[in-house]
Amino acid sequence: MFKAFQSKDGRRDSVNFLPGPVKLRREVQEALGRPPRSHRSEEFLAVMARIKEQLAQWLKVHYVQILLGSGTLANDVVGAYLRTALGQKKGLVLSNGEFGNRLLDQARRAGLNFEDYSIPWGKGFDYEDIEKHLSKGEGSIQWLWAVHLETSTGVLNDLPRLKALCHRQRIPLAVDCVSSIGAVPVDLSGVYLATGVSGKALCSYPGLSFVFYNQALEGGRLPRYMDLGLYQQSEGVPFTQSSNLIYALEQALHYAAERELCINQRQGEWLRAKLQELGFQVLALPEDAAPNILTLVLPREVPSLECGELLEEEGYVLSYRSAYLFQRNWVQICLMGEYEPEQIYAFPEMLAECMKKCGLRKGK
Ligand SMILES: *Cc1c(COP(=O)(O)O)cnc(C)c1O
Repeated sequence: MFKAFQSKDGRRDSVNFLPGPVKLRREVQEALGRPPRSHRSEEFLAVMARIKEQLAQWLKVHYVQILLGSGTLANDVVGAYLRTALGQKKGLVLSNGEFGNRLLDQARRAGLNFEDYSIPWGKGFDYEDIEKHLSKGEGSIQWLWAVHLETSTGVLNDLPRLKALCHRQRIPLAVDCVSSIGAVPVDLSGVYLATGVSGKALCSYPGLSFVFYNQALEGGRLPRYMDLGLYQQSEGVPFTQSSNLIYALEQALHYAAERELCINQRQGEWLRAKLQELGFQVLALPEDAAPNILTLVLPREVPSLECGELLEEEGYVLSYRSAYLFQRNWVQICLMGEYEPEQIYAFPEMLAECMKKCGLRKGK
């Protein structure tokens, strides 16, 4: 039988189905291990400029700044910009999962004036209803903030439709693309503000986040660390940046653009079909779902924590420890990196076996 653990050199090497940190290529690890470079050196600034250019071209956006911090920082920067640029104009924040809920919380903390448009987790939005909401009452809603790929449920919200309806209503759109960049095609043309990170589907280390935007933003009013205007005046490096993380990202980007288009999508589709055939309940409907994230709703008699731990012993690391997952008895398979086909093909049987074991233990 296939053993997920045994890699060619005999080391124990688990299959990583986490949304991050993800499996890293050797080249990425080596780049991180090089001695740090001054963030003022010409060499470093050239790499920085190249990465920014590459990201901007790939995602069809005019500007990007790279922050030292995780995705939450980038989303806080978006909240702060919505507040300074749009003042007390009222907006709409969409939520259909954990990360939508975090945007609601970040909007509150940023002091934004907004309405909460929440629907049940795992469902896709009714975009006609959203548009009705936007157009009802003379321009009462002046901006929109949403998550692209709702990582907690695997629902891929429809960015092209959100862009189109915001364009029709002439209101700015802010979007959290933290887990979608590198996983699915992302086109940020026309978007007001968007965010991403290094450590998810781009397959580098966690620690860098991105804010993308299409028109120059004013500086001077926000805390220095959040001031995109300050980044823009300083070739993107207003203060210490980690050359190690930047060089690792540079390596990871060589592979990310190719990977986006096919591998994980086919593997994800195969896994969904196979798991459903074996009787598993996948949370999101295929028409609402991202191709690379499957959230499984386990039957009550199978505790997700126990099932996840058993799978880990067998060499498969799933996502199940986050509070929002284990409270609902959900486990998650996130295809964020590169996998050997056998690792994917062997998984459904392994999961079925672990579930049986957990169910039996519980029944005793
Ligand atoms: C992971 C994630 C975040 C939070 O990012 P951190 O890097 O953990 O701060 C925000 N939004 C989405 C959609 C995510 O998947």
